[in-house]
Amino acid sequence: MSGKNRFTSRAERIAVVGAGLSGAVIARELAEAGHEVDVFDMRAHVAGNCHTERDRETGVMVHVYGPHIFHTDDREVWDYVNRFQTFMPYKNRVKTTVNGQVYSLPINLHTINQFFGKAFRPDEARAFIADLADGSISNPKTFEEQALRFVGRELYEAFLEGYTQKQWGCSPTELPSSILKRLPLRFNYEDNYFFHKYQGMPQHGYTDMISRILDHTNVAVHLETRFLRGRQSDFDFVFYSGPLDGYFDYEFGRLGYRTLDFERFTYEGDYQGCAVMNYADASVPYTRVTEHKHFSPWEDRTASVCYREFSRACGEDDVPYYPIRLVDDTQQLARYAARALEEHSVTFVGRLGTYRYLDMDVTVREALDTARRYLSARAGGDPMPAFLHPPVRPQDISSEHPVRLDSMTEGLRASL
Ligand SMILES: Cc1cc2nc3c(=O)[nH]c(=O)nc-3n(C[C@H](O)[C@H](O)[C@H](O)COP(=O)(O)OP(=O)(O)OC[C@H]3O[C@@H](n4cnc5c(N)ncnc54)[C@H](O)[C@@H]3O)c2cc1C
Repeated sequence: MSGKNRFTSRAERIAVVGAGLSGAVIARELAEAGHEVDVFDMRAHVAGNCHTERDRETGVMVHVYGPHIFHTDDREVWDYVNRFQTFMPYKNRVKTTVNGQVYSLPINLHTINQFFGKAFRPDEARAFIADLADGSISNPKTFEEQALRFVGRELYEAFLEGYTQKQWGCSPTELPSSILKRLPLRFNYEDNYFFHKYQGMPQHGYTDMISRILDHTNVAVHLETRFLRGRQSDFDFVFYSGPLDGYFDYEFGRLGYRTLDFERFTYEGDYQGCAVMNYADASVPYTRVTEHKHFSPWEDRTASVCYREFSRACGEDDVPYYPIRLVDDTQQLARYAARALEEHSVTFVGRLGTYRYLDMDVTVREALDTARRYLSARAGGDPMPAFLHPPVRPQDISSEHPVRLDSMTEGLRASL
């Protein structure tokens, strides 16, 4: 193993790229351990995509890049975020409008009974759906086949087909079956979207919480500052939570993302009576309307601010939201992953750095683990891997980078 990347016992100068949850947690942990941390974000605010701000006109706390609900089974993560913010009780209950009717989501006994005009008990509903399911599909390859196998044509066409088409910009016949792993139905009246033990909303918003995480004497935050790879040599180590392809100046082309457009409107009163209303019909161009005051039910607001949400392919100047990760992208992603392993003194983290969809609790967990790994590597004189959570499996590595296979495997092993 080369001597590069080996650590000494002095306090180090560390750059953290991105002031989202990943960057903030890593910066805090390393600052508390005595290191000097510079955090860079190209945006004018901290908190990344979790950013919340008070709407000037209505006073409503708005989830600027789309709604965020904190939910987790991870007790340590829950305790961690509660150190920096009081979490208010919040249950995510989502409705959907289909063909002029409003239904409850996820599809549950109420939805099934309403949709088919029945009054089934759980066992009756289960038998009814089993009858509707397409038993002739034994080896589903596409999202559509998987859905038909699970729920049958009526529910698929009403609730899944149009919405999926709008969200991903392609037909469910082009998406892999793996997206729909489990039966998306509940045979009871439970309409809490998440099953996690802990769920809530930060009382003063995510940006306030993340500002507090970053509030440490050893942390300097530089907003509206894009970090370029050339600056790496100014620091002992870099944690990079920006886009993996962006770090390499899109050398192998751009990784595919979906982006969102939000059409803001205000309303005097209660616009839709809930925080999230999906629109499943393909004929409605937006996927959902979010009414932000319902994300803070403990606040009493008369006026309302809502977002109509449109999904489309991400262009060069758009905010990357959801990694697409289709099979075709794997080789391109593998080339970037292999390229990352050639770098020294940089670890790629977070949803953009590892090109994965990550919930906030997973983001915090991975950031805590990354910081701890760094501190123990430093104490033991060991190298720090480019990825603790690599974006691809070793078998997906491009054959164009055979030399890198060993180091990739090492990166993967490091994540175990
Ligand atoms: C629409 C939507 C809804 C979501 N809802 C939920 C939810 O309800 N619950 C949940 O748990 N999770 C949710 N998530 C996931 C959540 O947004 C992520 O877990 C979280 O944002 C990941 O944080 P991060 O720090 O890794 O990335 P980000 O928040 O994206 O932060 C990365 C930061 O890096 C900065 N940056 C990038 N490149 C550079 C550069 N070169 N120089 C300087 N700065 C740079 C960016 O400006 C950005 O601020 C949702 C995600 C989306 C897209």
